[in-house]
Amino acid sequence: MSSLIVPVPGNLRTPLRVPQRHMFGPGPSNVPPRILQAGANPVIGHMHPETFQVMADIRSGIQYLFQTRNQVTFAVSGTGHAAMECAVFNSVEAGDHILVAVNGIWGERLADMAQRIGAKVKTIVTVPGGFFTNAQIEEALSEHRPALFFLAHGESSTGVLHPLDGIGQLCHKYDCLFLVDAVASMGGAPVYMDQQEIDILYTGSQKVLNAPPGTAPISFSDRACRKIFNRKTKPVSFLLDLSWLSNYWGCDGKATRMYHHTGPVSAFYSLRESLAVLVEEGLEHSWERHRKVTEYFHAGLQRMGLQLFVEDKSLRLPTVTTIVAPHGYDWKEITAYVMKTHNLEISGGLGPSAGKVVLRVGLMGCNSSISSADMVLAALGDALKHCHKSKV
Ligand code: PMP
Repeated sequence: MSSLIVPVPGNLRTPLRVPQRHMFGPGPSNVPPRILQAGANPVIGHMHPETFQVMADIRSGIQYLFQTRNQVTFAVSGTGHAAMECAVFNSVEAGDHILVAVNGIWGERLADMAQRIGAKVKTIVTVPGGFFTNAQIEEALSEHRPALFFLAHGESSTGVLHPLDGIGQLCHKYDCLFLVDAVASMGGAPVYMDQQEIDILYTGSQKVLNAPPGTAPISFSDRACRKIFNRKTKPVSFLLDLSWLSNYWGCDGKATRMYHHTGPVSAFYSLRESLAVLVEEGLEHSWERHRKVTEYFHAGLQRMGLQLFVEDKSLRLPTVTTIVAPHGYDWKEITAYVMKTHNLEISGGLGPSAGKVVLRVGLMGCNSSISSADMVLAALGDALKHCHKSKV
């Protein structure tokens, strides 16, 4: 007689089945076979020299992607949220004043994380779809004198690409660190970390990079490191502690690398391959491709009578497009229809913009192509014909 109180789960006796799907939501995007195959390489030790070489390759790929010479540049083991917490938990101590720009969900989330560790959080808030002028940011910096200022470069919940020029310089004028979320924009729109004086910058693997979710590139300026490595208290998280992570990633120049956590080596292989793909194309070419495809896509949407949520063309994200609810339709019916009929994922609104933005379409990395844009346009056109339109 078995001593087990939980019997064998029958569902695990059937083989894993995962469908092929067009991933045109705000992420994850499709992972091309080359990057999937890289992840299928043999698992070796997280402290083996070959793994350290893969990690070194990733670091130089991220330095290129971010346009930074920062030594403390690596990938967090986790998704974009892990990078957000890595940024905040290291650079902010309980009692620190921080300022968060909120023009969608990401500022709200970051503020929540900082509050959890006892930071004194002030926000500047604008309507979803809006942005902040440098004058507004300077006014808030001079009023609140924060130790850190957060801004989302690509607000994926609203579709806004926030201007970055001059903000780093303003932050430094007020002795404040500049933290930027580029999860949804990195690789698809220009960011120059060093020239724009960004102190902490992060992204995710599953958007423009087309790697599976689970690793999050991040970089810290010398200025950020000075604050972090002179903290009075230890960061609340051992897993995300920058001293440990920068040693594990070989960023601290020390001869000995200590075991910190078991790096997800298969995810590192995929991330390395995704950076290799980007290096082959060239960063500027990737920016230009995303810009052109998005313009083409937006023109097609407007021809169909759909309205873009972000009115100012220069503020539209070239990776994630937000569309106003077509009058009389239920957006859930549209997303369900295109999934069922066209095997294609697009998504609904998120956070403060939900209800206003009703459809979000991501054309990122390898999905940023005229053929993918045409596929979404055809699917949406079909959905508008077939989904229920109320008689209002
Ligand atoms: N920031 C932005 C701008 C994002 O779009 C996302 C993911 N949608 C995140 C942060 C969080 O990333 P993840 O879901 O990988 O944790």
